[in-house]
Amino acid sequence: ALPPIYAITPTYSRPVQKAELTRLANTFRQVARLHWVLVEDAARRSELVSRFVARAGLPCTHLHVPTPRRYKRPGLPRATEQRNAGLAWLRQRHQHLPPPQPGVLFFADDDNTYSLELFEEMRTTRKVSVWPVGLVGGRRYERPVVENGKVVGWYTGWRADRPFAIDMAGFAVSLQVILSNPKAVFKRRGSQPGMQESDFLNQITTVEELEPKANNCTKVLVWHTRTEKVNLGNEPKYHLDTVKIEV
Ligand code: UDP
Ligand code: MN
Repeated sequence: ALPPIYAITPTYSRPVQKAELTRLANTFRQVARLHWVLVEDAARRSELVSRFVARAGLPCTHLHVPTPRRYKRPGLPRATEQRNAGLAWLRQRHQHLPPPQPGVLFFADDDNTYSLELFEEMRTTRKVSVWPVGLVGGRRYERPVVENGKVVGWYTGWRADRPFAIDMAGFAVSLQVILSNPKAVFKRRGSQPGMQESDFLNQITTVEELEPKANNCTKVLVWHTRTEKVNLGNEPKYHLDTVKIEV
C-alpha cells in the first residue's frame, strides 16, 4: 500500500477562507491516501469549517487552537501553534503502534498552489525531502542547489545565511522521523521571522541528509501564491440581504 500523506494545514477565519479551502480540497481529493489535518486558528471549531470538512470528500481531522493575541503581530511567524497541534495529533495517533509506520508529513498552507506531481515526489520521502518553491523570497523561485544527488546550498534572494533557506512548502518529513524526534516542534521563542523552517529542520536533520526531489530540485511543483485581500467596501450597513448566506 502507498504510505499515507498527512497534510497539516493551519487556517483562520477571513473572507476568502472558504474559497481557499475549496481550492485545496479540490487538489487533495485527487491524491490517494491523503489525510488532511486541518487546524483552525480559533478558540473553537467554527461552523463554516465544520460544515466544510463534513462535505470535503476526503479523510480529514479537524483541530483547533487559538494563537495567543500577543503573537498576532506583523513580523511574527504565523501558525506556530496550529502546526504544533497537527504534530501532536500525529504523534498521539501513532504512539502505541509498532514500527515501521509508513507515512509522510508536509505543511500545506491554505493559500498555496500544489501540483499533483508534488505528492508523487514526496510520497517516497525516507527521512526529509526537499524541492523548489515558486513565487517566494522575492524571486520567481527558490531552490536547494544539488550536486551529485546531494544538497550543497541554496538558490535564494533572501537571508542566504539561513541553515535551511527553504519555505514551509518546500519540504516533507517521514512519519518515522517525526516519531523518533518527539520533541521537535515549532518554537515561538528564539525563532526570528523566516527562521521557522530552519529551526524546525535543525531539530530533525542535517543539510547533508536531505533528499532532493523534483528532478534534483530543477522543477517547480508548488507555488507560494498569496490571495489578494478582498474589497468589501460596498458591504451594506442597512438594507441587508433578505437571506443569510455563507460565503
Ligand atoms: N494563518 C493562521 N493564522 C493567522 C495567519 C495565518 O492560521 O493568523 C495560516 C494561514 O491560513 C496559512 C498559514 O497560516 O495557512 C500561513 O499564513 P499566510 O499564508 O498568511 O503566510 P505567508 O503567505 O505570508 O507565508
Ligand atoms: Mn501564504
